[in-house]
Amino acid sequence: MSTLLISLAALLVGAILGAILSGRRSRAGEASPGLESGDVPQMMDLLRRANGAMAACFVAPDAEPAWAAYEPLAGAVADRATAVARLALGDAGDHKVSEAGSVFVAAGDGRIGCALVFTQSAADAIDLERANCDIRRLLAGLREHRLRESGVLQIPRDIPEWLTNGPETVEGIAAQLCEEVHGVSSRPSALVLRDAGAKRVSIVAVSTGADRRLVGFPVSSYSAAGRASSGDVPIAGKSGEDLLGERKGDRRAREEEGIAFPLRDGREGIGSLIVFGQPDAMPERVREHIAWLVANAGPKLGRATTVRAAESRATTDELTGLANRRALERAMAAHGDGDCSVLCVDLDHFKKLNDGFGHAAGDAALRHVAVIFRNALREDDIPCRMGGEEFALWLPGVPANRALEVADRVLSAVRGSVLEWGGAELPITCSIGVAAVPDTVSRIENLLAAADVALYRAKDEGRDRVVLAKPGHGSP
Ligand code: GH3
Ligand code: MG
Ligand code: MG
Repeated sequence: MSTLLISLAALLVGAILGAILSGRRSRAGEASPGLESGDVPQMMDLLRRANGAMAACFVAPDAEPAWAAYEPLAGAVADRATAVARLALGDAGDHKVSEAGSVFVAAGDGRIGCALVFTQSAADAIDLERANCDIRRLLAGLREHRLRESGVLQIPRDIPEWLTNGPETVEGIAAQLCEEVHGVSSRPSALVLRDAGAKRVSIVAVSTGADRRLVGFPVSSYSAAGRASSGDVPIAGKSGEDLLGERKGDRRAREEEGIAFPLRDGREGIGSLIVFGQPDAMPERVREHIAWLVANAGPKLGRATTVRAAESRATTDELTGLANRRALERAMAAHGDGDCSVLCVDLDHFKKLNDGFGHAAGDAALRHVAVIFRNALREDDIPCRMGGEEFALWLPGVPANRALEVADRVLSAVRGSVLEWGGAELPITCSIGVAAVPDTVSRIENLLAAADVALYRAKDEGRDRVVLAKPGHGSP
């Protein structure tokens, strides 16, 4: 039924919209869809019949609702259908409302809202998701036809230089796109991306004029930006909360309104581009230009996020989420001259814990200490899992005396922490060897080996302690 609907609708759309548009343009002076055409009821009736609905209601701004109904609806049901269609029109969202024996399924795109009305028993028997998809496809067809008619889709535009020859990193592309959109719209913009692994959606870049503190801001999946990130139509948000979602105690962009344009990699949604400012005040031409830019940048950003995710997998320890040995070696190799230290940390009697409580308890302990290490270190420090229950904490710019203080702090934090497992509290301690350039070794290449030797001394001397490497170890 659905396919029939779509092909018939495709035939109808041209004729209908032509009529609507010419009528509207002459009266309102701009291209904006209305619902006056005598052919619209045919299309609506097709949608209604194809989905076994009692009625279809279309609404547009400044126009009377248009109806296709099997039989006249009760006044209250008609009012409710109109209200739900207007809701979808306003928030460009999908809605399903059940009320007093009727079910209303609606979708909108900011220009047209449509609600299908079902009896409860009909709604129980059919696929409402599919009805929603049918409405969406019809709206998309209407929209594209309108744009072609108004010539907007025919505007030749040059692909910006940065899209073909510019940066290849996520941050680089994101920053360029935000600036370009700012240039086109004279409004601040922000780019939202879905994180490949964690399914977190957050702001990764902002343009000139936007609040820089927004970078890193997590976006709720119910917000306009969150929904645009998994959909394919621009969605307007009328407040900061509406646009980005609520976050307790966070004042960033609470009052901002704007439009979120969906960003797709060619296959699926990977994020959205937010243009701040009053949605209704954005000229159609600007809106379309931005949609075009975002559509062109999507695949490039998609490739960059895939590369970044692969890189991150190659340098991350899966169990703890800490950096792995490869990441540590890279960071150490990139360190120039100057102080630096490493702490080699090994959990004490870890084998006993594994044997006594099982491998899962051992894994939990590894994750538990990883959190302690992260919390104990500064932002520039890098905690790594080297393998098994051995960790290295890399402290660039830190001399031996301060590295010893950090080691003491980590040692007490691990000893004082509680690992709960199956109702029991498992004691946990570690031993730490510390080495520093230039205080204990002269060359960074010998740092890890020196810290390791110190660690084994800490084990020999009874565990649960810190030992500083002897000066001179590993010197050429
Ligand atoms: P010591 O105090 O001397 O360090 O004793 P230990 O028992 O901690 O040291 P040992 O090297 O004898 O044992 C390490 C154990 O760590 C052996 C191995 O089963 C366990 N292990 C290594 N990798 C993992 C892991 O990924 N998960 C878990 N649960 N255990 C692991
Ligand atoms: Mg151990
Ligand atoms: Mg070990």
